[in-house]
Amino acid sequence: MTVLAAYSDQEINDYLRQQVRDGTVETDSETLQRQSFSAETVVKDSALARAFVSVKSVADIQGVLRTARRFHLPVVPQSAFTNTVISADGIAGAIILSTREMDQILEIDQADLLAVVQPGVINNDLDQAARKQGLFYGPDPGSRLISSVGGNAATNAGGMSTVRFGATKDNVLGLKVVLADGRLVKVGGRTLKQAFGYDLTQLFVGSEGTLGIIYEITVKLLPIPLGTPTVGRAFFPSLGELAAAVQAIRLSGLYPTTLEAVDAETMTVIDQYEHTHYAQPGESMLVFRLDNSHPEEQALLEKIVTQHHGHNFQQSTDPQEQAALMQARRDLLPAVVALVGKNHLSEDMAVPISQLATLMDYLQTLERELNITIYKGGHAGDGNIHPIFVWSGSAEVPEVVLEALRRTFRKTLELGGTISGEHAVGMLKNQWNNAELGETVDELQHQIKHLFDPMGILNPQRKID
Ligand SMILES: Cc1cc2nc3c(=O)[nH]c(=O)nc-3n(C[C@H](O)[C@H](O)[C@H](O)COP(=O)(O)OP(=O)(O)OC[C@H]3O[C@@H](n4cnc5c(N)ncnc54)[C@H](O)[C@@H]3O)c2cc1C
Repeated sequence: MTVLAAYSDQEINDYLRQQVRDGTVETDSETLQRQSFSAETVVKDSALARAFVSVKSVADIQGVLRTARRFHLPVVPQSAFTNTVISADGIAGAIILSTREMDQILEIDQADLLAVVQPGVINNDLDQAARKQGLFYGPDPGSRLISSVGGNAATNAGGMSTVRFGATKDNVLGLKVVLADGRLVKVGGRTLKQAFGYDLTQLFVGSEGTLGIIYEITVKLLPIPLGTPTVGRAFFPSLGELAAAVQAIRLSGLYPTTLEAVDAETMTVIDQYEHTHYAQPGESMLVFRLDNSHPEEQALLEKIVTQHHGHNFQQSTDPQEQAALMQARRDLLPAVVALVGKNHLSEDMAVPISQLATLMDYLQTLERELNITIYKGGHAGDGNIHPIFVWSGSAEVPEVVLEALRRTFRKTLELGGTISGEHAVGMLKNQWNNAELGETVDELQHQIKHLFDPMGILNPQRKID
């Protein structure tokens, strides 16, 4: 196709540089390559962007958006770039707007139990800073050490403690956002409750950079619980039995902070990767954590595990042992990618907890029917599972994996679940919008997008397109 460009690349880049006073504009191919194609995804539906802008101020963000509107360019918001669904990767001709270097913790307010941060602050850094004041930050994605609070807010990240402290949406009190037309808005605030107007805070949370650029986030902090936390593990003959135990634990009145699952095959891979010895042949592992636990709570947990055919119940109050076990679970995806194969898709469907055992059993049936191995683990306490599909040869997803995904997604929806519990949609799953949301809601979502971004410059082709 012949494109009669009104402006040369040089003219566009010169204008962009004039608009960005505090941050940096890079157009060299090495930077563009690195920031356009995520290391986390093998499906490269992304394309090389024209410029990578690391913004340092609100004025920079407005400048990038001004450039985009003037030359009709797509803008891809990006932060720590750890997403797994192609939602912060390059788009042909786009400007990547990175808020990673806007990384200041602006305030930790002990009295009001909150923090105000810029979007580039790494999740774990916020948590560590809060802990110095006797507080902590609840949301704990597996990527806690590498992902940012801004990216977490834009994807509504969940994680290893969602079962107790909720997902990111449950911990965001307020946001400051630059809209596509450059206007600044503040939504939500510093209170635990707010009943005025439509809840735009929750609309921006999980919007994957398609409605505005988040430049400040107010989050809840919680006081560190008194007492001694317990972290432990137990083994089950099948993931289905493990899931049934998890449901019983959720109903018991115990409030675990963590209820994670890893199947036998995957645990063996993690052991190899971590040089640990957790795996038991043919047994799925449950990892749990109880904050401030009492002996009678631990006894009840063990009883429920045993009633559901669990065994080898072990728990520890030693911080190093606890950290090692949690790290092993955290390394589920890196271990599979490093030792089984780089070609993979890591999914994240969630079902109501009463349906988790059915979904686990279904995945095992699928493995037999399609003669494939699915590496399985996830946030069992939330009904959220991460099946990892791995293949060899070229990066193109083979038909058998696509078929497995189609069947898994359909089964998830049939069970009353969602195709994405936390990783969001990006470019990988937006074809399923209609199936999950229904036609009317799908249409409403496009109308909302048009209201916030009539020129369609913010992360086009992602989330709802
Ligand atoms: C090993 C590993 C483990 C993981 N474990 C989990 C897990 O347990 N739970 C979970 O939910 N996810 C998990 N993830 C996925 C990923 O870490 C999360 O989606 C995370 O929230 C992305 O944050 P980020 O800072 O990397 O954002 P990015 O990848 O840079 O961006 C993610 C999305 O947010 C948008 N965005 C970024 N910054 C802004 C901004 N300032 N304003 C508006 N939009 C913006 C982007 O456009 C994109 O759509 C894991 C990933 C890896 C590699």
